[in-house]
Order: sequence, then C-alpha cells, then structure tokens
Amino acid sequence: MAVLVTGGAGYIGSHMVLALIDAGEDVVVLDNLSTGFRACVHPQARLVVGDVADAALVERLISEHGIEAVVHFAAKLIVPESVTDPLDYYLANTVKTRALLSTLLAANVKRFVFSSTAAVYGTTGMEPVSEDAATLPISPYGSSKLMTEWMLRDSAAAYGLNYVALRYFNVAGADPLGRSGQLTQNATHLIKVACESAVGKRPGMEVFGTDYPTPDGTCVRDYIHVTDLVSAHLDALRHLRAGGETLTLNCGYGTGYSVLEVIDTVQRVSGVNFPVKMSPRRAGDPPAIVAGAARIRANLGWKPALDYLPTIVEHALKWERKHAAKSSAAA
Ligand code: UDP
Repeated sequence: MAVLVTGGAGYIGSHMVLALIDAGEDVVVLDNLSTGFRACVHPQARLVVGDVADAALVERLISEHGIEAVVHFAAKLIVPESVTDPLDYYLANTVKTRALLSTLLAANVKRFVFSSTAAVYGTTGMEPVSEDAATLPISPYGSSKLMTEWMLRDSAAAYGLNYVALRYFNVAGADPLGRSGQLTQNATHLIKVACESAVGKRPGMEVFGTDYPTPDGTCVRDYIHVTDLVSAHLDALRHLRAGGETLTLNCGYGTGYSVLEVIDTVQRVSGVNFPVKMSPRRAGDPPAIVAGAARIRANLGWKPALDYLPTIVEHALKWERKHAAKSSAAA
C-alpha cells in the first residue's frame, strides 16, 4: 500500500514526502514538474512525471502501487497571477482536481487530503477567522480552491469520499535539517522575497500597500512553518485511516504579523538591512487574515512545534544561504 502525493516535487509537497518517508510510508509522487524540482523529491519516493488529470496514468499508479490515500498539492498558487490569468487557475486547480477525483472514486480510493487555502474567506478583519465564517474569495485563486471544496463536500455525500481539507494560512520556512525548501523562481511570497533580499539575491524589496486598516497600515498574515503544516497532513491521514469523519480545518497558528514586522524579523535574524521601498497595494490582497486555530488541534490532535516567527525565518534563511552558496560555486 502506498500514498500518492500530487505536487510532491513542489515546496510543500516535497516536505510532505520527507515526513511520510521519515514515518516509514511508501510514497509515489505525481508531479508535472511545471514548477516543481526533481531534486526536491526524496530518493526513496518514486517520482512519476505526469498530470493529475491523466486518468490512464493515475489508474495505472493506483493498481501498480496499491494507492490507498491521496494527498493533493498539485496546484497553481500565486494570487496576483490568478487575477491576470483566471482561466488557467480554474483549469489547474478546479477542472484537473475534478478529473483526479473521478479517477480515484472509480478505483475506490476514498481517502483524500486536500490543500485548500485561507483565501477562500476573502476579506476578513484582524480577528481570527473560524471555519464557519462565510467563504467569499476575492481572487480567482481563492475561488478555484473553494470550488474544489464544494466538489469534495458533494462527493463525500454522494460517493462516500472521506477527506480532510486543510485551509492553509501563509506557509513559510524550510525543513529544519535543510533537506528541502522553497526553490520557486521569481518568488512572490513575502518571507521568501525578504530572505532573498537578505542574502543579496535581489537588491531589495517592496512593501505592497501601507494604507490598509491594520495597526501599521500593512497587511497582516498568519505565517506557519512548512514542517508544522505537513505534520497536520500526517495527522489528517491518521484520522482518515482510523475511520474519522470528513473535515474542513484551518491550518495556521492564530497569530498575525504585519508585512513590516516580518521584514523587521528577517533583517534582525539575518543582520542585513536590505533596502525596502513602500509601494502601492497589490491586486487581490485582503488586509488581514489570521486563523481561528482551535478546531484543528481539537479534531486532529495537531501540535505545532515550530510556531515562532524568528524560527521560521531562520530556517528560510538557512535554505536561501545554502542555495546562494551553491549558485556562486557554480558561477
Ligand atoms: N508582500 C509584500 N512584498 C512582497 C511580497 C509580499 O509587501 O515582496 C505582501 C503582500 O502584498 C501581502 C503579504 O505580503 O500583503 C503576504 O503576501 P504573500 O504573497 O506572501 O502571501 P499571500 O497572503 O498573498 O498568499
């Protein structure tokens, strides 16, 4: 029996593969390598390069490897890109997931862990947002993931699918042992961009919007360490294997930091005062989004171990420095 990890060559997926292999599981990775990296996949996992919507391929993987559960990361995830190319996002995140689900259900694979997002909530306030809050996404990225949540909900009712949808808040950091991290080219995520600025990979960075209704005028987010995030997926898998019910859960710590606080932390931890420019708002950004974090702890027994912003930054920086050293050695 094996676990299928779609998008397992990507940032979060590759950390999930590490955690599964560390736990002694058999892992098959399905990734089209559009944004993932072969080198990020643990050598003990079997990497198959292909598309989640390729029914014949997924059917073959299920029968050859005895797939009993799927953790589905493969997706497009850049909010501003989803604003300029929405149909691409609906194809990658919604249409292809529909095809994957249909193949899985036809083969009687009914355990599914889904990467959802806090972007399904849309514009929220400074108060932590609970899973029961209204879902009113303000970006095509958020809508594309919410539509998939609806497909999951209806498939659970109609076909007996058992799933856990985890609504990620802002994922950052890298494997504490330095085995994987974020390699994304042209990164747009705040902690990654700030760490790249600290190691000199970029000349400096911009703060997008200083006139939000937040304490210092910049956007507030709940940053979660990627290793804690994947441990929530392991808990979800355990829950489903024990016959647990279908759940939709926030995955964040319940603490918000502003863009300026994050940049300040990166400058302090790195000891580098890289240039920071104040710029206009970026399309699709809600002012503040912080997780109501009680339900995941109560339902899955999730216990984060790295919930401290300087630790997240330290691990992200360590990864960035390792890659900066590698690229200068190669040059
Ligand atoms: N941000 C910023 N400068 C950057 C990258 C991001 O000011 O170079 C801001 C962005 O506008 C948002 C917050 O940081 O308010 C978090 O953005 P990110 O892209 O990391 O995650 P998102 O919340 O969009 O998923």
